[in-house]
Amino acid sequence: MREPPIFVCIHPNCVPRFPELPHAQMIQFSLFNIPVRVLPWFWLTLAFIGGVLRADTRSEIFELLLFMLAGFISILVHELGHALTAKHFGKRVEIVLQAFGGYAAYSGGGRLSRFQSFLIIAAGPAIQILLGVAALILVIQVEGLSPYGKYFFVKLCQVSIIWAVLNLIPVLPMDGGRILETLLGPQRLRLTLQISIAVAVIIVILSLVYNIGMLLPIFMGLMAYENYKSLKSISWM
Ligand SMILES: [Zn+2]
Repeated sequence: MREPPIFVCIHPNCVPRFPELPHAQMIQFSLFNIPVRVLPWFWLTLAFIGGVLRADTRSEIFELLLFMLAGFISILVHELGHALTAKHFGKRVEIVLQAFGGYAAYSGGGRLSRFQSFLIIAAGPAIQILLGVAALILVIQVEGLSPYGKYFFVKLCQVSIIWAVLNLIPVLPMDGGRILETLLGPQRLRLTLQISIAVAVIIVILSLVYNIGMLLPIFMGLMAYENYKSLKSISWM
């Protein structure tokens, strides 16, 4: 029997349910025999994060496009980390890039050990951090990069490291929360949810105190609420 797909990753600032946009706008391709779908919301949210509302000149618009390309490559590599590791363990995998990030879903194959699950989850942020470090080394070491080339690799470094680290915050359903869930085991799901709620609430408070923008506290607030609902539902069981 086919297992339901397990979403191993939701990127920071993800709002899970967005209205459908025309599927004609969807891009589909295959990479390492893994089907990849890129939904229209992915590009729209990347454009907003990259500052589409402030881009006026041709140069600013070109920099925005470079930022979007860096974001696309970074998130795709992150999901490939999950997907290739799951494939190695005999799973059927697919990658979907959607609003504010993406996920790698896997199903079928045999039952995974906790260590295998841990490896699948950790592989995403790990390879994304490596990509960021590689981009940084390239900027430092390679002489004669054009200003736009340098801009692209700096953005690739920044988004890769920042998004990977944010993703490792121990709040379900992000990678950090999934790692915590795997380490604590299924018997301690209640504790995992309690830690997720506490960490998310602390981040909301710190974000508001230090005024670091609204996206992170809104996202963490949503995650805290979703985890609270999950905790209430298992409390009745
Ligand atoms: Zn991930």
